[in-house]
Amino acid sequence: MTLHSLSMHEIHDLLLARKAGAVEVVSAFLQRMEAVEPKVNAYISTLGERALDEAKLFDEGKKDFASSALAGVPIAIKDVICVRGIRTTCGSRILENFVPPYDATVARKLDDAGMILIGKTNMDEFAMGSSTENSAFAKTRNPWNLECVPGGSSGGSAAAVAADLCAGSLGTDTGGSIRQPASFCGVVGMKPTYGRVSRFGLVAFASSLDQIGPITKDVEDAAMLLQTIAGHDPRDSTSVNLPVPDYRSTLRDSIRGLRLGIPREYFIEGTAPEVVSAVRKAIDTYRELGASLVDISLPHTEYGIAAYYIIAPAEASSNLARYDGVKYGHRVEGAKDLMEMYRRSRSEGFGAEVKRRIMLGTYVLSAGYYDAYYKKASQVRTLIRKDFLDAFEKCDAIVAPVSPIPAFRIGEKAEDPLQMYLSDVFTLPASLAGIPGISVVCGFTSERLPIGLQILGPHFREEVVLRVAHQFEQATPFHREKPPIG
Ligand code: GLN
Repeated sequence: MTLHSLSMHEIHDLLLARKAGAVEVVSAFLQRMEAVEPKVNAYISTLGERALDEAKLFDEGKKDFASSALAGVPIAIKDVICVRGIRTTCGSRILENFVPPYDATVARKLDDAGMILIGKTNMDEFAMGSSTENSAFAKTRNPWNLECVPGGSSGGSAAAVAADLCAGSLGTDTGGSIRQPASFCGVVGMKPTYGRVSRFGLVAFASSLDQIGPITKDVEDAAMLLQTIAGHDPRDSTSVNLPVPDYRSTLRDSIRGLRLGIPREYFIEGTAPEVVSAVRKAIDTYRELGASLVDISLPHTEYGIAAYYIIAPAEASSNLARYDGVKYGHRVEGAKDLMEMYRRSRSEGFGAEVKRRIMLGTYVLSAGYYDAYYKKASQVRTLIRKDFLDAFEKCDAIVAPVSPIPAFRIGEKAEDPLQMYLSDVFTLPASLAGIPGISVVCGFTSERLPIGLQILGPHFREEVVLRVAHQFEQATPFHREKPPIG
């Protein structure tokens, strides 16, 4: 086994036992990047020299591998999360040269834990998309099939983990952007409960939905990375002041008798037969593991897409008003007056999907339409949340597909935003409800594309989600498969 293909906890074990050095580990990833990154385009910025300098501090004894459970392990961060002194673009021309003067809380926490930042990953512009085709810079390719998308919007973070271009990464999930690319790339991706992880320093897309979470090679790594970033932060008023349990310590507790809900609305017509059969087999595995399976209903599921694609653009139109060329970001040369400067800076700086969302969001918030659209969507959101609360009276966790389809071809849906939005059908409801969810690989299509299994849990019960995911993973061979690239 080569160093770059190991999980984060395996790498840390080697470092602790002095069987590998930090420079050796970082170098293994840099070599891997040289060979594979040109094919995958997972990164917007790679930080080889900086990472090697950090690694040297460990090898010279100035930093200690024992200082945390992940000290010395290389990590990548989605380019929507601020890291002081490092260009943070959000996949957008408008922030092409933006260098944040401060660290996001999660970046600070990774650094405090001694993790080594190795790059900033590609993404759909401002996290708007499901394929990473909306990046202003490059299209990331799916390591399992370079003709296919890696999913999105955290496509770079998922592809980097799948292609062994980092040991683990952070993504963000507003409506599925961690879980869906994780499922397309055959890795683990977890969206924590809204409020579990601080978003201070995360560039906002839709503030009532955005969450940061781990993308990793196995569930144990997801538990450890979540542990590192979770917790209350006085600098994010939406972060919740609750104790953070020790996620790793309960992964192996039995799930015998645990009630797993199977929502009938997640097995609808239009879902690819191979996805349905892989998820059904996963449910059989849970039966064999001793879980008790309960049929449940989440009756408002079908309204999730409509509600999300009003609420998210509404919040985006407001959040993105700050990019006007004045304080930071792209500014046109030679504008005659202030209005022209605003207009042309924004026209040049934003891509088509971002403009579409700003217009949609502005429209649904406008005086005459607010009640008909935004208010209605918020009411639907309450019903969707209630669906989950009712369901969790009957079950401890919910098991379902992540996406109705596996990774699609690059370009296949790029010209048809509605088709793109529809593919988010199974991830949006959990985002609207604010509950935690994870994607783990549960099989492959006949074309060898990964299929994701989604596990959802009640608010702030990440430990249940992780435990249910871990036991499936350990009972099945899928997570050990590697894409044919290298
Ligand atoms: N695909 C969804 C969208 O385009 C979700 C994106 C996300 O979670 N950031 O809005």
